[in-house]
Amino acid sequence: MNFLKFKNKKLFFENIAISKVTTRVKTPFYLYSLSQLRFNFNNFKKSFIKINPLICFSVKSNSNLKLISELKKLGSGADVVSIGELKIALKAGISPKKIVFSGVGKTEEELDFAIKKEILLINAESEAEIRAINKIAKKNNKIVSVGIRINPNISAKTNKKISTGKKDNKFGISMNVCLEIFNNQYHYEYIKFEAISVHIGSQIMDINPFKKVLNALSNFNKKINLIGINLKYIDLGGGTGIPYSNSDKKFNLKEYSNLVLKFKKTNNVEIIFEPGRSICGNTGVLISKVIYPKDAPGKKFIVIDAAMNDLIRPALYGAKHQIYPLLKNNSIVKKNTEFVGPVCESSDTFISYNKYQKLNEGDYVCIDNIGAYGRSLASNYNTRPYSAEILINKNKYKIIKQRQKLESLIN
Ligand SMILES: *Cc1c(COP(=O)(O)O)cnc(C)c1O
Repeated sequence: MNFLKFKNKKLFFENIAISKVTTRVKTPFYLYSLSQLRFNFNNFKKSFIKINPLICFSVKSNSNLKLISELKKLGSGADVVSIGELKIALKAGISPKKIVFSGVGKTEEELDFAIKKEILLINAESEAEIRAINKIAKKNNKIVSVGIRINPNISAKTNKKISTGKKDNKFGISMNVCLEIFNNQYHYEYIKFEAISVHIGSQIMDINPFKKVLNALSNFNKKINLIGINLKYIDLGGGTGIPYSNSDKKFNLKEYSNLVLKFKKTNNVEIIFEPGRSICGNTGVLISKVIYPKDAPGKKFIVIDAAMNDLIRPALYGAKHQIYPLLKNNSIVKKNTEFVGPVCESSDTFISYNKYQKLNEGDYVCIDNIGAYGRSLASNYNTRPYSAEILINKNKYKIIKQRQKLESLIN
């Protein structure tokens, strides 16, 4: 179900004509749909109902406090990768017992804070980190639940910049080293090894990499059972992709669910998921105004007031986000049309079309599917403030994060 729709040539998100919001809020701004967020979370949960997993929303995909509070109400936990994200999850009211902490470079300060809060799992990514956790746990006189992030050396068949599960990626520990750690678990008096975790990448549309991961983990789990390690959890990470254009198929959650159900039964563990994009990706759009149309040899640029600092995915990954006018008209311009931002970088470009409707100064456009890794990857490059975030709930909307004051950057 998709809550972004044209009705009579006007683009609506839920029951709000987006053009109405532009009369009150300065562009660019991020616009979210609460119904879409709820639908996505509940749909994910329903798809895995027989597995009854702990769903830990990946806070790095969207760290807006209000959105995370809404997910908390639906039963979500959190997957965090920094002390900042951990504090946001706690502030949103998520129980520490539903929080997992991932990341290759957790500092002493971060580990100390997480240990004091007694979160569900710290997913460690190196032997050195495990030694650090043991030391800090000892200082705090606490037994800490630790998961080991496995690097299964499996290609996610996604953009190489968001692939994380190959042996030359910085993430995780090889199965051999993990086995050694489990063999020597008695070196770590203050650690209870309760889980292994994997996360092989993001925007994965194909089931096969997940199949390979499940097989590899099942085999590994059999091995560690033999040395007396019986895990409580296996954390399967996130990574399920979403369609970014009409020609993209949906990822088949049901098919994945059937595989995971079998996996859960053979391995006799609780399952944790860490979805980000599939929960919040299509819950957000970026609304922008045309500053200037600009004719150039053989093409037309549409310079809009949103830029790579608001949405870096096209510049960083070559991602394509569809752009729609807020108001459709019938005057098609049959010319290569490229949407670009005002930032002084050639990579500050969004998408090109062979033809597009005529756009003039002051017209508004909507950049689709920016709920994940949109605002959370934003920057102040070119001394541009962070844009406001607005949440729609049926026929109402409100600002859930104010536009950053420009003055806060002039100091
Ligand atoms: C980024 C990340 C996720 C979320 O990935 P999505 O592709 O957004 O679902 C989950 N787990 C870990 C460890 C991550 O780094």
